[in-house]
Amino acid sequence: MRSLKELTRPNIWALKPYSSARDEYSGADASVFLDANENPYNTPNNRYPDPLQRELKSLLAPLKGVKEENIFLGNGSDEAIDLIFRAFCQPGVDNVVAIEPTYGMYKVCAEVNDVEYRPMLLDVYYQMKASALLSAIDEYTKVMFVCSPNNPTGNSMCRKEIDSLLKRFDGLVVVDEAYIDFSDLPSLLADLDKYPNLIVLQTFSKAWGNAAIRLGMAFASPEIIAIFNKIKYPYNVNRLTQEEAIKCLQQPEKVQAWVNTLLEERARVMEEIVKLPCCIRVFPTDANFFLAKVYEATQIYDYLVSEGIIVRNRTNVALCSDCLRITIGTKEENDALLEALSKIEIE
Ligand code: PMP
Repeated sequence: MRSLKELTRPNIWALKPYSSARDEYSGADASVFLDANENPYNTPNNRYPDPLQRELKSLLAPLKGVKEENIFLGNGSDEAIDLIFRAFCQPGVDNVVAIEPTYGMYKVCAEVNDVEYRPMLLDVYYQMKASALLSAIDEYTKVMFVCSPNNPTGNSMCRKEIDSLLKRFDGLVVVDEAYIDFSDLPSLLADLDKYPNLIVLQTFSKAWGNAAIRLGMAFASPEIIAIFNKIKYPYNVNRLTQEEAIKCLQQPEKVQAWVNTLLEERARVMEEIVKLPCCIRVFPTDANFFLAKVYEATQIYDYLVSEGIIVRNRTNVALCSDCLRITIGTKEENDALLEALSKIEIE
């Protein structure tokens, strides 16, 4: 790996971060707080939240098998994706490489930050080859994005290929595990100490059922996490979100029950949908959604909308022509989808 100093934008490496009142005094002994220009009334929302979300991280670290210094928390994992560009990619100079098709925000963040985005097509099985991604790099390639399980295809990338990338690429490898809780495969978190160039992204938006609170996680070496903390907004995770997440972490069995139900429903819906005349095939998935190839995806999408059922039409995405991305809902929602699809006649 190139040194972190070589990988970081020089202005970010040199940056002296803003020091908030809560950074300068974070002890618990004081009882009179006159340091942050807060209003003394309207407890508890009058006070700025913990800028480093210490209580939340202390619950998360043992659950994820990492140290608190390995965790960055942000306003959704989308914040971490944006910070990766802002920390490491020099606008107009550096580039990133990613699998294609994949989650759209990597490309949007690249464009917002004026960073060249190099998409590398997956094979017909939606698998990536490390050698293909490595063939796209040059001396200005700072980051590679691998989403596993991948959105919108649903499948996991081959672990051997991810390991190969981590060993052979001298920049940073981001593995987006937003859907990992729906997969039987292990997270890369266990290998955080082995790979200093690894950044793992996870989120509270999927299995944890908390998309509305906007809480994303990035796991990496303490040195990488320190760079994120240096450039993030001082109070990027609000108090209500921290509190809700702490509540949620205290009942992990509830999350596991949701995941189990969704996995049962996923198997049932996929088994039923392939029997319908409108469906050509479904693709293997490790996520809470699956990709279905159908006859005339756009017509079927429009018909479903007219029935009040919204799926994602992915027909214009590379390698996904005539594919609909279907999220697993409640049993009743899934039944409504199957019922509507069963009424489609194919000549
Ligand atoms: N990564 C992937 C692969 C996603 O599909 C999504 C959301 N659809 C995200 C990240 C963003 O998650 P968050 O809600 O944490 O910003």
